[in-house]
Amino acid sequence: MDYRILLYYHYTTIEDPEAFATEHLQACKDIDLMGRIIVAHEGINGTVSGTVEQTNAYMDMMKNHPLFEGIVFKIDEAEGHAFKRMRVRPRPELVNLGLEEDINPHESTGRYLSPSEFMEEMQREDTVVLDVRNTYEYDVGHFRGAIRPEVENFRDTPAWVRANKEIFEGKRVLTYCTGGIRCEKFSGWLKAEGIGEDVGQLHGGIATYSKDPVAKGQLWDGQMYVFDERITVPINRVEHVVVGKDYYDGTPCERYVKCANPECNKHILASEENEAKHLGGCTLECTKHPRNRYIEKHGLTEEHVAAVIAELEKNQQHI
Ligand SMILES: [Zn+2]
Repeated sequence: MDYRILLYYHYTTIEDPEAFATEHLQACKDIDLMGRIIVAHEGINGTVSGTVEQTNAYMDMMKNHPLFEGIVFKIDEAEGHAFKRMRVRPRPELVNLGLEEDINPHESTGRYLSPSEFMEEMQREDTVVLDVRNTYEYDVGHFRGAIRPEVENFRDTPAWVRANKEIFEGKRVLTYCTGGIRCEKFSGWLKAEGIGEDVGQLHGGIATYSKDPVAKGQLWDGQMYVFDERITVPINRVEHVVVGKDYYDGTPCERYVKCANPECNKHILASEENEAKHLGGCTLECTKHPRNRYIEKHGLTEEHVAAVIAELEKNQQHI
């Protein structure tokens, strides 16, 4: 395998994110990287792919930059690029938490736990584990017994925690996310809110936990959702338990697709067969959308589409 995928973030102060993004995009293009990078006044967050030489060049450039001293890269081996283009975007914040008062992780953040410490602590009686990702990420894989906040988006999680405070009372609270960036702020917010007895976070996220020689991804069920073309990656190197369920019939499934309606884009788990039966739509409305991507991608005839829709409408009447 000659390619690598780098996942990283660094909280630092970038004076002019717009100007920085333009310059950084050029630097990435010069080394032929692909990926998606977010730049904010509070720092940088990215996933990029390239050959070993290209990714090494990028890591050298970043490590030698005075703003990014101490930056940590999580490295995955890959067979090719994980992105089709290179994007660097300036944004108001790195993580969309939607807090009234922003949290600076340099001032308030949860106790950092190494993968082996996290594995040990999450098994204690007095501990609750809180998943601080989106529900579609949780649904294809999560730590065994972790709490799934009933929210569509990560930014609604603070309100959910406030409304469900009793779950955390007198408990040690552990948070985890993909690479650790969401936990930096979220665990800081939990502390500031006075949630739980003590707040800890999985340092380096699930990505690091999987590679750890002691933890080996244990107590993780399913796959981990990632924000690149791989969509999901394996984590537990000891056993594999499927937790994902097919959106249409509830059977075990780990295949993520986006609803074929380009205006919906809902993430759903679906087998190839069930996706075909519904022409990729998450509802009948989505299936019937005039710009249905599934129909386009598979070059389906009008007759075929009409027959599938008639079948779906017939089935719906029986419910
Ligand atoms: Zn839909």
